[in-house]
Amino acid sequence: MIVRVEPLTTTRRLAGPFDYALPAAPVQIGSIVRIPFGRQTLDGVVVGFSDTTEVPDEKLVTPSGVRADSVAPELVELALWLAAEYCSTPARALSLVLPPRGKPRTELWAARTGAPPAGERLTANQRALLAALPRAAGADLAALRRLEGRGLVAIAPRRRRRVPLSEPRADEPVRPTAEQEAALAAVERGGAWLLHGVTGSGKTEVYLRATAAALERGEGAIVLVPEIALTPQTVGRFQARFGDTVALLHSALGEGERYDERQRLRSGEARVAIGPRSAVFAPVRDLGLIVVDEEHDSSYKHEGDPRYDARRVAGWRVGPGAQGSGRDGSGTRAGERRFGGEMRKRLLVGSATPRPETWHGLARLTLSERVGSRPLPPVRVLDMRGARHPLHPDTRRALSEARKAILLLNRRGWSNFLTCRECGKVWECPQCDVALVLHRAEHAVACHHCGHRERVPERCDACGSPAVARYGAGTERLEAELGAALDVPVFRLDADTAGAKDAVPELLGRFAAASTGLLIGTQMVAKGHDFPDVTLGVVVDADATLRFPDFRAEERTFALIAQLAGRAGRGPRGGRVLVQTMSPSAPAIVAAAQHDTRAFVAGELERRRVLDYPPFADLIRIVCSAAAAGAPRAASGEIADAVSGAAGTTVLGPAPLFRLRGRHRSQVVIKTHDRAAAVAAVRAAVDRAANRREHREVAFSVDVDPQ
Ligand code: ADP
Ligand code: ZN
Ligand code: ZN
Repeated sequence: MIVRVEPLTTTRRLAGPFDYALPAAPVQIGSIVRIPFGRQTLDGVVVGFSDTTEVPDEKLVTPSGVRADSVAPELVELALWLAAEYCSTPARALSLVLPPRGKPRTELWAARTGAPPAGERLTANQRALLAALPRAAGADLAALRRLEGRGLVAIAPRRRRRVPLSEPRADEPVRPTAEQEAALAAVERGGAWLLHGVTGSGKTEVYLRATAAALERGEGAIVLVPEIALTPQTVGRFQARFGDTVALLHSALGEGERYDERQRLRSGEARVAIGPRSAVFAPVRDLGLIVVDEEHDSSYKHEGDPRYDARRVAGWRVGPGAQGSGRDGSGTRAGERRFGGEMRKRLLVGSATPRPETWHGLARLTLSERVGSRPLPPVRVLDMRGARHPLHPDTRRALSEARKAILLLNRRGWSNFLTCRECGKVWECPQCDVALVLHRAEHAVACHHCGHRERVPERCDACGSPAVARYGAGTERLEAELGAALDVPVFRLDADTAGAKDAVPELLGRFAAASTGLLIGTQMVAKGHDFPDVTLGVVVDADATLRFPDFRAEERTFALIAQLAGRAGRGPRGGRVLVQTMSPSAPAIVAAAQHDTRAFVAGELERRRVLDYPPFADLIRIVCSAAAAGAPRAASGEIADAVSGAAGTTVLGPAPLFRLRGRHRSQVVIKTHDRAAAVAAVRAAVDRAANRREHREVAFSVDVDPQ
């Protein structure tokens, strides 16, 4: 018997699997083995078995070891699919499902062996020790050992779980509404479903009950949330309802905690995994349900290789065909039908602002109003054309009247860019072709793409003029100005203040506890927080996302405004929302102001149908980069030539991209109606180009379904 092993190496140039002789220790698919590989020794994952091999006997080597921990066979299959689907390598995809390094922590545990026989002489101290058992021996080990010697106590090592920090919430039992009942009944039938409901309409309650139903069937569940730091409330509610059945899997866990939480899932002790994107790979036993909360959130797309989409991976795990590509143009029953009779697993994705492709591809369930029928806050659009100051007078007035408010400006730093009034020089990053942003508190101008920093210039280094002008306003500047103008405390939440591990929950906690306050920040402030006493929401420069040269600009702008509106007016005092924009009649802004997801998505789908964008076609983006200027262009031209001509496929580009981190870049975008064929063609073209000597300085990045 031969084992087929995929070596865990990072290079794209080695295509496995490779054949090895069967080791003495038992192996199965997913076993992790040490393999001699060329001159080195690597870890590899067993991906298959074979009766024959082309490797001659004398060259066939045996793995030198087998790790105790392994990958579940289903996850090996998933990784191999993922490698192909996202034009990556099996090794990189397998690294996503690999068990974390670590080992269990043990402690000595003391328990009584029985009641001390009558006449046994014990000191008061010993009596107290016995009365407190069973417990960890800890500092009393010596005293307990003496009792062990007398046969009164048994001491043995025991595993001790390292428990991630969490804040379970009070969990009040509620009676589901008729719409929640209907949604649950539908999910019960199996298949993939979109739960559309405004913030506060009771979606989380549906997730909780669907999870409870899965547990009752003896199945496990995965619950994906955008970012743990920004969604402690959702996590807390799952922990409150399901206790230790819930394993928490986020990136801020310590190595030991991560190890233990994963082990609890693998052994079946924990049945529900909750976490961000990567939790979609959780080794949950008898997986029956995956919930994706806030499915529109861009964090579900991984930006490193492989550039997987957790929502699509979730679809794969509950059943092939459940990804909901939706190109069959069918109606709302698509998800149900695609699953057919035999698919009993469930995918439940929810959002107040679903992506158009999800709306199009999945069967839809609706929660039409907020629980308690509390109305959504009215939204006023403020026309900023010709305005001089970043804040509209009405915004200023509203802010000075509100006790508690949230203000969103999707741009951090003090000002957007610096320019010389004399000669027009714009300060740019030496590594990237973008303007540097002023961060006043740090006396620095910084590149938001590569992190390059330099001191704030006192004069222009081109002409010597001291007249350096600052244009635009970022969160730092608004924080300073409003902090001075308002008599409420101002809190700032953006990537600059979110640095330390617990900074975000700490800041949100302080804002929640404050009786008055203004929370200023980037899109982070629009995520799922629940502050019932916020009565005012403000979006400054709603066009910031709209100006992006990307077909998702409309979708992002709509979601951002609608999500922020969802943060305001959740309490009995109600609330309102102000949106400052230079494009007051843009469809995304008009629809968001009317809380009209249906109209927005309908218009957006029509636009995409005309332009032949997702979900009516699939996109694949290939970026070639190199330090030398001409190289990326040549490599991407070659890929474009290789892929063009495939049926149902259009090639856009090569087109230059701005220089990033000192690397010149060139991109090709493939638009296709035959996804599988196009992915295969791109993979072949990239592999060929990557293996050519003249492109050895070029890095290739393939993004299937770019966001
Ligand atoms: P969403 O996830 O859509 O934002 P939630 O599930 O968090 O909404 O519900 C909003 C609030 O309404 C929560 O405080 C929740 O406990 C409460 N709630 C949800 N469903 C019901 C119900 N059927 N009856 C009463 N209160 C409910
Ligand atoms: Zn100058
Ligand atoms: Zn830079």
